[in-house]
Amino acid sequence: MTQLASSNILPLNEIFESIQGEGSFTGAPSIFVRLQGCPVGCAWCDTKHSWYLNAEDKSTFDIVVAKGGDGDSWCEVGIDHLVSHLLTYQARHIVLTGGEPCLYDLVELTSKLIANGFSCQIETSGTFDIKVDPKCHVTVSPKIAMKGGYKILDSALIRANEIKHPVAMQRHIDELDALLARLTPEQLASKKVYLQPISQQNRATKLAIATCIERNWWLSIQTHKYLDIQ
Ligand code: SF4
Repeated sequence: MTQLASSNILPLNEIFESIQGEGSFTGAPSIFVRLQGCPVGCAWCDTKHSWYLNAEDKSTFDIVVAKGGDGDSWCEVGIDHLVSHLLTYQARHIVLTGGEPCLYDLVELTSKLIANGFSCQIETSGTFDIKVDPKCHVTVSPKIAMKGGYKILDSALIRANEIKHPVAMQRHIDELDALLARLTPEQLASKKVYLQPISQQNRATKLAIATCIERNWWLSIQTHKYLDIQ
């Protein structure tokens, strides 16, 4: 593992422009900014290449931005440089993802993005303090009892604009019920709750649809995976 040079430097794994495939912003042209580093340890994680800040994988901004896809390489980038670069894309919605982006203080980055006319969304496991601009849309996708041993924080559940829970079996819905029970009715009323079937499994999708209808929750399907786009 390596240390970052300073607090206004972030570790970047990749940037790509696509359509947001999940949750409230489904269909929005978006720039995805994947930060490097995640200790949460989900067994089914499809971005394991973003877990470690290994010194031997450290590269340059130009190479990381040009790589166009998954890969272990990452680089350090200054916040002002990152914002200037993002302004060269067409989309005006930013999705900060990971890895686990909440390993880092993102107040300065999200505030500068919003000041430059972007809408901003962060996707987090809810296991670290969320440090973002108050106008940043927060998606908490709770990762419960994973190998890293991190707990879902009350502060993350309270801050969430949407809670998007991965589901494959009834146990996952029971876990979500236990999480939501930690919120007051007022806190809960201000959020959208989504069930998202894991890996497009048919059984998981049927369970999610039935439960959403029963509970008045929303269904999030990973439309980008059905469309076979990044
Ligand atoms: S929190 Fe996200 S990036 Fe980290 S292991 Fe889980 S799915 Fe992967």
